[in-house]
Amino acid sequence: MFCYQCEQTAGGSGCTKVGVCGKDEDIQSLQDTLVFAVKGIAAYAYHARQLGKSDEQVDAFMHEAMFSTLTNVDFDLSRYLGLVLKAGEMNLRVMEMLNDVHVERFGSPTPATVPSGTKAGPGILITGHDLLDLYELLKQTEGKGINIYTHGEMLPAHGYPELRKFDHLVGNYGTAWQNQKTEFDAFSGPVLITTNCVMLPKDSYKDRLFTCGIVGVAGVKHIEDHDFSELIEMALSAPPLTDSEQGTLSTGFHYTAVLGLADKIVAAVKSGKIRHFFFIGGCDGAKPGRNYFTELAEKVPDDCIILTAACGKYRINARDYGDIDGIPRLLDTGQCNDCYSVIKIAVALAEAFDCGVNDLPLSLVVSWYEQKAVAILLTLLHLGVENIRLGPTLPAFITPNVLNVLVEKFAIKPTGDVDEDLAAMLKPAETA
Ligand code: SF4
Repeated sequence: MFCYQCEQTAGGSGCTKVGVCGKDEDIQSLQDTLVFAVKGIAAYAYHARQLGKSDEQVDAFMHEAMFSTLTNVDFDLSRYLGLVLKAGEMNLRVMEMLNDVHVERFGSPTPATVPSGTKAGPGILITGHDLLDLYELLKQTEGKGINIYTHGEMLPAHGYPELRKFDHLVGNYGTAWQNQKTEFDAFSGPVLITTNCVMLPKDSYKDRLFTCGIVGVAGVKHIEDHDFSELIEMALSAPPLTDSEQGTLSTGFHYTAVLGLADKIVAAVKSGKIRHFFFIGGCDGAKPGRNYFTELAEKVPDDCIILTAACGKYRINARDYGDIDGIPRLLDTGQCNDCYSVIKIAVALAEAFDCGVNDLPLSLVVSWYEQKAVAILLTLLHLGVENIRLGPTLPAFITPNVLNVLVEKFAIKPTGDVDEDLAAMLKPAETA
């Protein structure tokens, strides 16, 4: 390895051990964790800033965190552990800020039943996390006879009053980001990508793909300043979509909507009608092993409620889970940043039962894939949440020593066998 600090081969005869070669692998692991978390925090801060909000404390932390990862700044492991948990705290602040500005701008989400599939006629598909891009697209396409479909992380948009007031926001098409190649190929209209979870496109639909905001793909048209005119023209001239309805999906279970049911939920827990709550969600991915989440949700007993968020929801949201005394058994709180709602719900339940979050009959099973998932996991650890199951694999940048610390401090666990995990989570001793 070439060391840019010593300007020679790391570990060679003149190596001073002050550069990359001098780093302890555990410190390197925590620094990598920090860098991943800062990337996730930056994504949420970017969306909030687009909507006019920023937070000086979050910005200052990002500088501190990035500076702390320079070579030989600090060799103190415990200080890095503190910084990693502080990243979780800052991510909570930024998720709260993003939640608040979404609500301020687009209203408080309420439960929505969203048709899945397509309707006959011209259509545009929009994917990613940026609700402002969707809003601008809806305004510019109003009255033009074009149907707008959400994809992936844009599904929760249907819960927001100021977005769903547009009649031509007709439904959701497709699933999570890793299925883009098949799903975009089969969608005859143009597709707009608003954030980072984009796959390099196939030639078959590359000329129908558009990017905007932070995201860009070589050879794909990038839209500036929300000028969607070219996209709209293409939608009107592309072969129209056909009627292909595929049932419905539900979303919009923002914490305000769920806490509106708090009395019912508390009564159902007290009477034994609700035995346990599960959070099953997070970032989805293409690697094998993610059927774990589908199988787990299918096997969750009928007297349990499942909360979900992020694109991991598509592993579990295609089936009807029914309800318990009118409380839907599957509650989709929204995008990955809406894990903030899950935290608010958990804290409110803990208050209602006069206990800590770790004492609730609640288990968190988190699928991780990218940087935002790392930031969210750190938020949960910052809040002291224990017994989180993480899968389908543990992050490769976590060294055995760092993992030991996480296990000792937070009892974090890798996902394993579905039946064994489920049985352990339903045992009264193992909760959050
Ligand atoms: S939940 Fe994670 S993987 Fe999924 S679209 Fe959002 S950031 Fe990407």
